[in-house]
Amino acid sequence: MSSELRVVLFVGGVGGAKMAHGLSRCLPPGSLRIVVNVGDDFRRYGLRICPDSDTVLYTLAGRVDPVNGWGVAGDTTTVLDALTGLGDDTWFRLTDRDLATHMYRTQRMADGATLTQATAELARAMGVDIDILPVTDAPVPTRVITSDYGELDFQEYFVRHRWQPEVKFIRYVGAEDARVTTAVAEAIDWATCIVFAPSNPWLSIGPILAVGDIRERLLGRDVPRVAVTPVIGGKAVKGPAAKLMAEQGLAVSARSVAGFYGALLTDFVDDVRNPEFTCDGMNIIQRDTLMLEPADRERFAGEVLGYIGERIR
Ligand code: GDP
Repeated sequence: MSSELRVVLFVGGVGGAKMAHGLSRCLPPGSLRIVVNVGDDFRRYGLRICPDSDTVLYTLAGRVDPVNGWGVAGDTTTVLDALTGLGDDTWFRLTDRDLATHMYRTQRMADGATLTQATAELARAMGVDIDILPVTDAPVPTRVITSDYGELDFQEYFVRHRWQPEVKFIRYVGAEDARVTTAVAEAIDWATCIVFAPSNPWLSIGPILAVGDIRERLLGRDVPRVAVTPVIGGKAVKGPAAKLMAEQGLAVSARSVAGFYGALLTDFVDDVRNPEFTCDGMNIIQRDTLMLEPADRERFAGEVLGYIGERIR
């Protein structure tokens, strides 16, 4: 693979982590930086919990639960069971080793470390030598306005209510006034291509793109800016992306995803199973984007890099 490829990948959780893993297998060391959503972050039991960041971290560290695609493989639930025994409503599942991650992060931040620093330390400790960069160090919690329950914290919507409530509106609180970190600004300037993983547009990428200065920075880079569809055959591979599209009156299609990104993209990777479409100002290619097994991640990432490599040659 060409050493000129310097990739910044924007991700949420499980879908993003798969692509991050594939790219990490294809690119030489030092050629990949990952910018992660912080809109899912929240506090529970006094701990700062960063689900998307940790999913990427555990995946790259080879520690992720292979069945769920998040959490720590084979982890125990001693603390969770004890909390349940105390009568606590343990709707958010925190397992023992995962709790250590949150405790470490929370303590470091109480000591004065930024989220970016605490995340880098966790990555180093887990043997991950790829930069995992929270898009901003400011809190920008996503809130979901539903028909049935009014305004919900993101994790109440996503985990407690299993993303079933009808969504009227999504707010990225504080995002407009937030700024990307120095590390993210440098990564955007360093990149020879910018890739958006097949992450949920409204819940994972939306909160990233809502950060005050990010669109301007991305649009200022004359490099391929590429997104991958999370919709295959009229369905999301996983999670609420399709349901959210329908609730907004959008067709559940890759075209709607391309429309979400609009002028931010120069290229869009659609899935071979989807009907072809065109979109002004975008090159659209079709590939098999389904990453069921680790080998699929590497194959797909290699295809995307091959395409980008040709583009920037
Ligand atoms: P979350 O925060 O854990 O929901 O993770 P992301 O937002 O990063 O990823 C969720 C999105 O990834 C969903 O909308 C899925 O449709 C999409 N997705 C998951 N696996 C795949 C895959 O193998 N291929 C494609 N094209 N999309 C996927």
